[in-house]
Amino acid sequence: MFVVTETRTGLTGTPVVPGVAYGPVTLARGEVSAAAVSAFGDGPYADDEAALAAYDAAAAAVGDGFQAKAARASGATAEVLTASAGLAKDRGLRGAVRKQLRSGEHLLPAVHAAVEQFVQTFTAMGGLMAERATDLRDIERRLVARIVGEPEPGVPVPDEPSVLVAEDLAPADTAGLDPAIILALVTERGGPTSHTAIIARQLGIPCLVGVAGALSLEAGVPVLVDGVAGTVEVDPDSDRAWSLVAASAEQQAALQAWSGPGATADGFAVKVLANVADGGSARAAAGGPVEGVGLFRTELCFLNRTEEPTVDEQAEIYAEVLRAFGDSRYVVVRTLDAGSDKPVAFATHEGEENPALGVRGLRLSFSNPGLLTRQLDAIAQAARDTGTETWVMAPMVATVAEAAEFAEAVRGRGLKAGVMVEVPSAALLAHRMLEVVDFLSIGTNDLTQYTMAADRMATDLAHLTDPWQPAVLQLVAITAEAGRHAGKSVGVCGEAAADPLLACALVGMGVTSLSMAAAAAKPVGARLASVTHDQCEEAAEAALAASDPAAARAAVRALLV
Ligand code: PEP
Ligand code: MG
Repeated sequence: MFVVTETRTGLTGTPVVPGVAYGPVTLARGEVSAAAVSAFGDGPYADDEAALAAYDAAAAAVGDGFQAKAARASGATAEVLTASAGLAKDRGLRGAVRKQLRSGEHLLPAVHAAVEQFVQTFTAMGGLMAERATDLRDIERRLVARIVGEPEPGVPVPDEPSVLVAEDLAPADTAGLDPAIILALVTERGGPTSHTAIIARQLGIPCLVGVAGALSLEAGVPVLVDGVAGTVEVDPDSDRAWSLVAASAEQQAALQAWSGPGATADGFAVKVLANVADGGSARAAAGGPVEGVGLFRTELCFLNRTEEPTVDEQAEIYAEVLRAFGDSRYVVVRTLDAGSDKPVAFATHEGEENPALGVRGLRLSFSNPGLLTRQLDAIAQAARDTGTETWVMAPMVATVAEAAEFAEAVRGRGLKAGVMVEVPSAALLAHRMLEVVDFLSIGTNDLTQYTMAADRMATDLAHLTDPWQPAVLQLVAITAEAGRHAGKSVGVCGEAAADPLLACALVGMGVTSLSMAAAAAKPVGARLASVTHDQCEEAAEAALAASDPAAARAAVRALLV
């Protein structure tokens, strides 16, 4: 294990995607340098028109940059980037800048005042519009960079394959990241469920998050990133580094050869499933060695919709996913988990004080039961149309009564009914939940958030939002044990299932299926195939007995080598 010493040979963090990478550091820049802004001062412009022309050039360059990224992205990311391109070139924003210049402001304060004016207007509109405030501030930083002649903040495109080091990465930063050029991701902040971790998992590149001191690494310095041990070694012996990379590449190639179905080395079957968001991701996942879909996040189909789609329209969207798995595999469809970090305009309640603890997921049906019944009708219609085995589960279930009512509605449509275990109350009462539903699926992302009382998006709390936390594992174990007792399936569909080491411990606790980003299926399936069920049980015991996440990881790693 590396330690941060005075000569600093290494840094440590939370490993989230396995693999070893060696290459020079490239730094993603968060802010325009204060020195450049101060050197620019009031700017060299003879008059307002010259300043406005400089603004126009900057806005065009920023807008074109977003447009180019949008062209390389797809789905919701492409839409967000296209909207940002429109905002950067917005005539109203330009008009506000011109007004500021005419009233005697210099260019940088004029841009700032105009952007702030827009931020206030958008914030007052609330909902999705209010969320564009972050994008506007990002646009301002990019405009300022262009005006003072600096590169735009964000992810650079390095000339040679490099290790990308950042404070944390936003969706706009990661759209179009090329794994051929970005060898590994290292972020100072962020946790196992952060956007950075999710993207790295999709790209299949080694990733460490929560690496204290990462931003003090110098651009260009060679580093060795170990996505299993959680270490970043600075300027290592290059022969040793290359041989470690080669050994890891060999291991990764062996993992890629795994073709399912999921089982331990001694033949204990565990279903390896995919998490999908729409027809496109379902078709991509269906080509891999998965036995079905363990989590279809339906709300992700509607993030940009202002009106609720009709039952027929919804049925067609769901059928696209079901059709991809119509060859005797099955799909677990989750009903709308709108609210909190996934606002859906036609469903989410606005202006909640504390949305993560508010009306999200199944709770939306309390005051709007039609929303759920129309969705269930559409899912049933899609199941009939495609003939695919369809299970349906509800998110954010807190009581047995909620589970019973939901199960009745689902079974009434001839489908298998389950609920997610994301709230500690559901885990503690798993045995009673299983009296009224056919299966449970543990959402470790939210279960961790609610168990540790730590916002899953709060990068400062990444040490708490770690599914290896003993209290979270205890709740998983209680739930899995209840499933074993009832003889019913208990899956895990949160990010924990995508961690090959943790996946083994989860199976040892009694979890019967693991659902994850499709890219994680091979590493997880191969890891599972390399250990016996007894070893998984020993790993579970060791993880549960450990005092903290780092000790749990180390204990499980030692048992499963
Ligand atoms: C979870 O909470 O673990 C989960 C799978 O749901 P989501 O990440 O979509 O909230
Ligand atoms: Mg969740």
